[in-house]
Amino acid sequence: MELSNRQEQIIQIVKDNGPITGENIADQLNLTRATLRPDLAILTMAGFLDARPRVGYFFTGKTGSELLTEKLKKFKVQEYQSVPIVVEEDVSVYDAICTMFLEDVGTLFVTNEASHLAGVLSRKDLLRASIGNQDLTSVPVHIIMTRMPNITICEQDDLLLDAAQKLIDKQIDALPVVKTADDGLEVIGRLTKTNITKALVELARDQHI
Ligand code: ADP
Repeated sequence: MELSNRQEQIIQIVKDNGPITGENIADQLNLTRATLRPDLAILTMAGFLDARPRVGYFFTGKTGSELLTEKLKKFKVQEYQSVPIVVEEDVSVYDAICTMFLEDVGTLFVTNEASHLAGVLSRKDLLRASIGNQDLTSVPVHIIMTRMPNITICEQDDLLLDAAQKLIDKQIDALPVVKTADDGLEVIGRLTKTNITKALVELARDQHI
């Protein structure tokens, strides 16, 4: 986060003199306590300063990057997931390709007759199936998909960082976000590399403070 000059000055005063009351900080800057209130609130919320009743403000000792890391470690999958695009396992490769274009996604999830997760289709899965001479309208996707139980999944309450680690470890672009149903997994979301990128950009642009 970008700190204003005044906020930098406040941090320095608290570092040198803390614990120190709001009034004393204001005196040192020749400002009123009321003028300083928003800056003190921002610095406390962002984690640079802490305040104890009847003691005053003190410096937490955390650097900007430590505070960013702390925040990043709290992000949940739920806050960043996208809507899942799902096809049934007996649709044709041709129709799956059309769905991928129409929905503008890079990964489709495949469900069985019980509407539970059965497989995953990536762009390359569909490309691979297309370079043969087969009639794509007569090949069902369950023939070419990556299937359960080899699907890497995540849940809404998982940490975003753990989901990102799975994307890296498995060298894949997306994870289905699932909920355990009676005898299978219900697909309730899609977590992609783009979602992770969005989280990083938001964090860097301070939209999460
Ligand atoms: P692409 O193949 O278009 O580069 P991916 O890297 O996501 O896209 O997919 C690589 C392979 O991994 C594909 O065969 C795909 O079916 C499979 N795959 C993709 N996502 C998952 C997942 N969440 N779990 C298991 N396998 C996956």
